[in-house]
Amino acid sequence: MHPDRYESWGRFPKVCRQEVRSLRFRSDPLPEAEGPLLPYGLGRSYGDSCLNEGGTLLSTTNLDRLIHFDHERGILRCEAGVSLAEILRLTVPRGWFLPVTPGTKFVTLGGAIANDVHGKNHHADGTFGRHVRCFEVLRSDGTRHLCSPEENAGLFRATIGGLGLTGVVTWAEFQLRPVSNPLIEAESVRIRSLDEFYEVNAASEADYRYTVAWIDVLASGRNLGRGLYNRGNHAAPVTADLPKLRWGSRLAVPLDAPGWAINPLTVRAFNFAYYHKQLRRVQAGLLPYEPFFYPLDAVAKWNRVYGKRGFFQYQCVVPTGSEAMREIIRTIARSAEASPLVVLKTFGDLPSPGMLSFPRQGITLALDFPNRGERTFRLFEELDRLVADAGGALYPAKDARMPPAMFQRSFPRWREFATYVDPRFSSSFWRRVTHEF
Ligand SMILES: Cc1cc2nc3c(=O)[nH]c(=O)nc-3n(C[C@H](O)[C@H](O)[C@H](O)COP(=O)(O)OP(=O)(O)OC[C@H]3O[C@@H](n4cnc5c(N)ncnc54)[C@H](O)[C@@H]3O)c2cc1C
Repeated sequence: MHPDRYESWGRFPKVCRQEVRSLRFRSDPLPEAEGPLLPYGLGRSYGDSCLNEGGTLLSTTNLDRLIHFDHERGILRCEAGVSLAEILRLTVPRGWFLPVTPGTKFVTLGGAIANDVHGKNHHADGTFGRHVRCFEVLRSDGTRHLCSPEENAGLFRATIGGLGLTGVVTWAEFQLRPVSNPLIEAESVRIRSLDEFYEVNAASEADYRYTVAWIDVLASGRNLGRGLYNRGNHAAPVTADLPKLRWGSRLAVPLDAPGWAINPLTVRAFNFAYYHKQLRRVQAGLLPYEPFFYPLDAVAKWNRVYGKRGFFQYQCVVPTGSEAMREIIRTIARSAEASPLVVLKTFGDLPSPGMLSFPRQGITLALDFPNRGERTFRLFEELDRLVADAGGALYPAKDARMPPAMFQRSFPRWREFATYVDPRFSSSFWRRVTHEF
């Protein structure tokens, strides 16, 4: 693929001076390359944490071999470029599921480790890194380090959530979760406000492994925070024939949509229809796992609907119950800038293993904003103030613009982490957020 095509999911910033080298075998040395190096998986990070202006990306998708699968214990060892989609294809028919999955299965194992990704089960199981048993890190001096919670523990904790800066993970081994079938017993509950979100969430977290809410971010006043609360568990064993999974055809957005396609009117209309599509307060049923976990994967390249200027995702976490989340949603509603895809979820108290992991106890909101230049940046400054005053943080995997001061305050272990950064590795994100301020 042409180097210009190695972009991030949000397609901002545009990076032109960037070389690409492919890693072919896990036993190979790192290729000769100009400038700083950075591993690149499937580019599902939204901003510049997977970009390397003036340097070289090390594409990992050819590191796609399975090394060992212990069917009895559900322990899988594979190369770091294998995607979660491929892992699921192998393991689900054998009764094993990912311990944690993000909202798309088109991410690599290496990318899942480097961002210490979280899923709908954070309150029950924490982040992906908690389920990783060991991996190998290849550094630019040619040394290889086997890392686990017991061996090279410092490098292990730096590499989990380490944004690809500590070297290349060549392979990793992790623990899967047993499942009886590919189905989810899912429920959707209509919630009328943010207070109701907290109530339903508190009542759901003990009984449901997976919880997340979609909210109508344009609703204000007493409707602020209204939406649909989704919860689910892996289905119990069933004796009858299971319904056949049909998830074959993937639609694609063929062209860049015009920049105005996402505007307050279209978003308001979508939100209204989506909220009212559910007539009963609670709707329940059996769902294949794919639409439950990965509804957006049904539309390939959906990021193009935001046009060539790209878009931002703003994902923050603030302490649960703080007034900050209400004020953040109010500010976004007033601006009428956001897209319809707004996700609200609480993170539990299970500690993340990585020094730079984003998840921490609190409530997290994630939503997209089309890139409208200065006015989008001004809104983010307002939101940053609310997040920072509440002692919250922004997710580096989704970020393309947070100021260095914000990063350094909300990731207090970043200086300790920096001692593990490989001297030849860097990224556009890292150079941006580690500036003195
Ligand atoms: C639709 C959608 C939904 C999402 N939902 C969630 C979610 O629910 N939760 C969540 O946490 N995230 C979510 N994400 C973000 C996504 O899970 C992460 O950005 C993930 O890390 C992307 O993996 P990737 O393979 O595409 O890696 P890239 O984006 O290519 O790279 C990510 C980072 O990993 C590093 N890296 C890649 N491979 C290696 C390797 N072999 N060794 C060392 N470092 C490596 C890169 O240098 C970079 O820093 C979502 C993204 C999308 C597009």
